[in-house]
Amino acid sequence: MNPSKKRNELLKKLAQFPEFVRGSITSVCSTCNRARCICLKKSSRRAYRLTYKDSRQKTQIVYVNRDQVPRMQKMIANYARLRKLIEQLVEANIEVFKNETRR
Ligand SMILES: [Zn+2]
Repeated sequence: MNPSKKRNELLKKLAQFPEFVRGSITSVCSTCNRARCICLKKSSRRAYRLTYKDSRQKTQIVYVNRDQVPRMQKMIANYARLRKLIEQLVEANIEVFKNETRR
């Protein structure tokens, strides 16, 4: 496939994943708010949160409702996909550049 066509296809794929986040999901006890529950009466109810670093490398926490956990997991997976696509785009762009400047 010619490199610029390949680049266009990668750009189309890129647009298929508009919803993405960086970070990881952790869970805490919904009563004591700790990863390792310290409650006298243990409950299995967990609260979920996304932890990520913002553009200034500051750790941020976003609370995630239980029913939104699958969606958040998908958003994290999309981020990994996009990163892979960006890598492929870098290679495609280099091929395009080489072709255009070849003499
Ligand atoms: Zn607890």
